[in-house]
Amino acid sequence: MRGKPLAVVWFQAAGCTGCSVSLMNAAYPDIKDLLLDEIVPGKSITLVFHATLMGPTGRPALEVLDRFPGKAAGDYLLVVEGAIPTRHPNFGRVGERPMAERAAELAHGAVGVVAVGTCASYGGIPAGAPNPTGCVGMGELLRREGVDVPVVNVPGCPLHPRWFVETVAHLLVHGPPRPEDLDGAGRLRAVYPDLVHDNCPRRGDFDVGRFATDFGAEGCLYELGCKGPYTDANCPYHEWNGGVNWCIKAGHPCIGCCEPEFPDYPSPLFRKASAEEAARSYRSVR
Ligand code: SF4
Ligand code: SF4
Repeated sequence: MRGKPLAVVWFQAAGCTGCSVSLMNAAYPDIKDLLLDEIVPGKSITLVFHATLMGPTGRPALEVLDRFPGKAAGDYLLVVEGAIPTRHPNFGRVGERPMAERAAELAHGAVGVVAVGTCASYGGIPAGAPNPTGCVGMGELLRREGVDVPVVNVPGCPLHPRWFVETVAHLLVHGPPRPEDLDGAGRLRAVYPDLVHDNCPRRGDFDVGRFATDFGAEGCLYELGCKGPYTDANCPYHEWNGGVNWCIKAGHPCIGCCEPEFPDYPSPLFRKASAEEAARSYRSVR
């Protein structure tokens, strides 16, 4: 029997809306089924606020957001897309209130926070050096503000719709994650189980030292800057756009878009990582 849907408030901060666009591309299930049907037997979500997707704009839309937390405290899931500017209130406002203030307040009343995309998870591109706006991810913001609420990161630039669906399904079935469910970067281990490199179709080329030296050539893309050996993501399995293609299959190196130090560490994107860079890179957070 279908229970009461879990209300979802989707809050957009400093980002490009690419994660929302990616979610609209969800294929299995598609976005209609995701929002209207059961995600797992008996459990579903209802999207109560999403500035890009909802019908109302301006004041009527803000009036919906202003209801939270209010009487809904403890009864909704907060999804955050985009990094949070902290250096000055005017670097990001929603309805005239600073994004950081809104985000912390909404998180305080939520049953949990899902940070979608690398920006909301760790700061991402808005926090790239020299980070003039002082952007941070939700986990860091809530640490600074002393807000104690479970946070799950679902990074990716953008996030893959499957990663969002799998994370929400996990939360619906199991509730807040236990510490052992998360890796050192705050992601569900079940959703980010392997390195791209582990399952890459060009792995055989890597193992025998057959490296591409030009884009479009056959062979492993490591010499062209591929960060697959340092990036946890199951892109080789799910691929993108409903399974049409993905970075490496299209001949483009993995740029490490799911990792906490993206984009500063993988840059320059098309340069092979030195051994020293690799050693102090992503694996240090596991
Ligand atoms: S293309 Fe990248 S992920 Fe694939 S085997 Fe080469 S280095 Fe690893
Ligand atoms: S292959 Fe790498 S850069 Fe491409 S989407 Fe997956 S994790 Fe991101």
